[in-house]
Amino acid sequence: MPPINAVSAFFRKLKADEHFYFLPNLKLETNDNLKLYDHLRAIDEGKDVEEIQKRTSELFGDLLTRYTIAAFGHKRVYIGEKDKTKRVCRFCNNVRKPTEYESEAHAISEALGNKTVILNEECDKCNNHFSRTIEPDIIQYLSLFRTFYDVKGKGGSKKFKGDNFELKNEENVMLSFHSVEDSPKEFSMPYKVKLEAKEPLAVQNIYKSLCKYFLSVIDSNQLSNFAKTIKWINGDKEAERLPLVGEMISYHSFSKQPKLVTYLRKIEDKSIPFAVGEFHFTCKIFVFIIPFASNDKDFLDKTDFDHFWETFQYFKKSKGWAFMDYSNNVKKKFILNLSFNKNDKSDTTE
Ligand SMILES: [Zn+2]
Repeated sequence: MPPINAVSAFFRKLKADEHFYFLPNLKLETNDNLKLYDHLRAIDEGKDVEEIQKRTSELFGDLLTRYTIAAFGHKRVYIGEKDKTKRVCRFCNNVRKPTEYESEAHAISEALGNKTVILNEECDKCNNHFSRTIEPDIIQYLSLFRTFYDVKGKGGSKKFKGDNFELKNEENVMLSFHSVEDSPKEFSMPYKVKLEAKEPLAVQNIYKSLCKYFLSVIDSNQLSNFAKTIKWINGDKEAERLPLVGEMISYHSFSKQPKLVTYLRKIEDKSIPFAVGEFHFTCKIFVFIIPFASNDKDFLDKTDFDHFWETFQYFKKSKGWAFMDYSNNVKKKFILNLSFNKNDKSDTTE
């Protein structure tokens, strides 16, 4: 039984004198979980629990009273109905015929290193559809990071092969160019290179993929709020403009296993989005509103968007966010302009 094996693994990882809670069959809200976590931290750090709690509430503000938060990727989980004969596909309601559930559907693309979050409720036809339509674009978009950090997809390490270059990671990261013209003449700082990817890419598909991941992990009783979103990711609904996507690079939460945090609004405050996702891939973080949720604003207006960002204080507190427009749905050549600089302090290249 895998759950029983997990118990012994838990005890193996515990340090001497480390405290833990044992809560048989109790499912806790994020808020209560945080309280217990704060309590354990207070004991471990020898601090006052109120002091630790104050720090937590400064970080999260009243976000916890507004959203139900759940995180995926840190442990193995199968989402949705186990019994194949009772399954209803989240993306086509079993209308893509014949409806079969033979292949294991990854809630987050396996090519991005997800081995733990499996969605039961995605039929083979939909799985195949997404892997041909939207997923190749997000995978290509993140390929530089995937190869650089050696994130293993299906079949192990992946090279990033472009029109004019090849990037591989075999003990060391190696970048080579197909022709002398493409490789920079002199090795001086900043060392600039232009990488041209093989396949054209529509940035809207990156946004669609992020939302597909979100819809794959939420509770199925929430899906009725996202009928239009599902139409959109299926390619049956056009979108001209989409909300901006917050994007940053942070090594603080670096993870080779992709992680997804879901925020679902639990109060009747329409000034903030009904659903928000936070996706981590290696050092990259994306924060995105799920568009077209029932009765939701579109958050295209700057004031509306700023108000949303204001609500998520702990994102706002970290510096370095870029707000990207992923509305364009036309396939375009994907070019990466990289600039390598010498870091004087540590005398290493970044
Ligand atoms: Zn389906």
